[in-house]
Amino acid sequence: MTDALSQSPLSSCRRVVLKLGTNILRHEGGSVNEQRMTAVGQAVDNMRRAGMEVVIVSSGAIGLGMGKLGMGKRPTRLTELQACAAIGQTILMQTWQRSFEPFGITVAQVLLTREDVRGRKRHLAVHDTLDKLLSLGVVPIINENDTVSADEIKFGDNDILSALVASLVKADLLAILSTAPGLVDRLGTGEIVPVVHDITPEILAMAGGSETATSVGGMVTKLDAARIATASGCTVFIGSGFDPAIVADMTKGRARGTYFPAKERGIDARKRWIAFFESPKGTLIADSGARKAVIADGSSLLPKGLTGIDGCFEEGAVVNIRCEGDTFARGICAFSSDELLGILGKASSEIKAQYPERRHFEAVHRDSLVLLQ
Ligand code: GLU
Repeated sequence: MTDALSQSPLSSCRRVVLKLGTNILRHEGGSVNEQRMTAVGQAVDNMRRAGMEVVIVSSGAIGLGMGKLGMGKRPTRLTELQACAAIGQTILMQTWQRSFEPFGITVAQVLLTREDVRGRKRHLAVHDTLDKLLSLGVVPIINENDTVSADEIKFGDNDILSALVASLVKADLLAILSTAPGLVDRLGTGEIVPVVHDITPEILAMAGGSETATSVGGMVTKLDAARIATASGCTVFIGSGFDPAIVADMTKGRARGTYFPAKERGIDARKRWIAFFESPKGTLIADSGARKAVIADGSSLLPKGLTGIDGCFEEGAVVNIRCEGDTFARGICAFSSDELLGILGKASSEIKAQYPERRHFEAVHRDSLVLLQ
């Protein structure tokens, strides 16, 4: 086992999200790689026999659609991409179904857009559905609903989608399997970095974009995905998807690739939603005393420590919290932007006189606040 991982939660790994990239699932000419998908089916069967629950995030819809239409180059128009996805997604699911059949495993298709996991109600509904499928012994196979997702409602790519799914289902391990064998130290040794504890600027510098004709995510987005998942308490593994046998080693912490150990105390479900899913509707500008109180002392953010706001939002909106240009936290604001404008910099006793019916006077209560660093 990789030393740095010997203490990680991987030893009791129960829930795994497997993300498979387009070029793992299709041949160069664009046809589906059924053999590899059956090998994944075998690997998943082994994991389940070892007591794990598995969720798959499968790319490939656009790439397989392109293959079916004989397109060599990824289209640039949104409607063409959406058409390719509509064609390829059915090929993808038919093949997944066939690949899992020999093992008696039922699969379920789940197509998501960003909107589906943003609002609290739909977010919880998606969570409950995935939970239900897992409790029924089914393997959910998730992809972005590319056919209906336009730019503003896109996840961006399936690396980010897989991290959000891992956060949503509280997975212990997210494995991003693609053509990339791991994070390669391209500026130094040229070797794969086996373990990354913190995604520092130096680590980011090792990752260059790697867009190909069929897929979109490069190493930079994989690192973004790793940041979301590890902060959610999930260990991340980035490795080659060419050899499905890697899956067996991966859960033992000894596969060739890069591990990103989970942050020890992953944040709770509601705070994960605040931090990663809902889009902020505005910004609260805090003074440096308030920033210190929030970061170092674990305090709530009081109107007294606010110097300004950006945006127009209702009470209960998710907002960013910024100080001297640094967005250091995000949380649910207990006042609307209009109300806040009247109480900026005021002490709680003054606000109480203004809002006698209120019992709490924090702008963002600590229980609804998450630090972003
Ligand atoms: N959702 C896209 C597809 O199925 C893949 C996006 C990605 O690989 O990041 O083709």
